[in-house]
Amino acid sequence: MTRPARARIDLDALRHNYALARRLHGGRALAVLKANAYGHGAIPCARALADMADGFAVAFTDEALALRAAGIIRPILVLEGAFDADELRLANRHGLWMVVHHEHQVRMIEYQPDLRGLHAWLKADTGMRRAGFSTQAELADAHARLSASGKVADITLMTHLARADEPDQTATTRQIAAFKALTGGLPGDRSLSNSAGVLGWPAARGDWSRPGILLYGADPMPGAGHGLIPVMTLESRIFAVRGVQPGDAIGYGGRYVADRPMRVGLVAVGYADGYPRSAPSGTPVSVDGRPSRLVGRISMDMLTVDITDLAGAGVGSRVELWGRQVDVNVVARAAGTVAYELLCNVKRVPLDYSG
Ligand SMILES: *Cc1c(COP(=O)(O)O)cnc(C)c1O
Repeated sequence: MTRPARARIDLDALRHNYALARRLHGGRALAVLKANAYGHGAIPCARALADMADGFAVAFTDEALALRAAGIIRPILVLEGAFDADELRLANRHGLWMVVHHEHQVRMIEYQPDLRGLHAWLKADTGMRRAGFSTQAELADAHARLSASGKVADITLMTHLARADEPDQTATTRQIAAFKALTGGLPGDRSLSNSAGVLGWPAARGDWSRPGILLYGADPMPGAGHGLIPVMTLESRIFAVRGVQPGDAIGYGGRYVADRPMRVGLVAVGYADGYPRSAPSGTPVSVDGRPSRLVGRISMDMLTVDITDLAGAGVGSRVELWGRQVDVNVVARAAGTVAYELLCNVKRVPLDYSG
């Protein structure tokens, strides 16, 4: 028997979520595949969306070139833009769309002789205070210089929302207003919305959306009932069962002490597979489709679950760590992090594709 830990990836669910995002936002949608498609495998996900996605977005040029090498011919936007002139030339040769968010990137385009037909996404900083041009004068100046460079065929205006997952946040309203003010009068398509923008902020709609986490079925506003379908199921099996007595401490550090006779299942998955070590006792799991919980600390290669009250559960039982039965957002909250980090940390386990 091979080790039973795996991540099942449902590509039909991915297509469902993409179509939902596109329908909700309107216009066109770049499917964000950075960080190996948030742990789901960038190339299989790109191929699954190749016939329906208007384009893709990744963080780095290398990620985009890997998609090109795999035969992906749709537009690909590089969200961090180019770090140097060689990279910019290479990106241009492969027809990549490049975010331009700093003065030095504008200069790089101006002074690079053999660029042509570049599609630039000019980034306005409307409140994230990370990357982007934050005054109207700077943005207009960058826009004018790119337009006059003779190397840029198209300029899309974009910004990124910092708090769109908080429904009542006036910060997002202010960002939307700031974007209008900064870009007023400049020609070109507009793009404001990440997943939370698509799901929660009709006022942030533009010509292009950039959904990421929602494609993978993890709602950035958990519990909001948007109809997303989880794409990844992280699962394994129980490979041994043991009884423990009241007073027995389970696992490293003796963190969980049994207060009654218990049956504990050993599950072949651990933090080396990306399951968070910080998940405490009580974090939900599903055993053969029935709710259960972690007991004791997560080990590198295994973890322990309570099957005391699950008649029939034992060696060979299927354990879902997250997926359709166990919301990855719930596990993330218990572990003190976000679904983004859990998903893109998945490693070592085989990815099994269907759909
Ligand atoms: C990562 C990223 C996105 C996607 O964000 P989600 O919250 O995963 O939808 C969109 N735009 C930019 C600029 C990003 O960096």
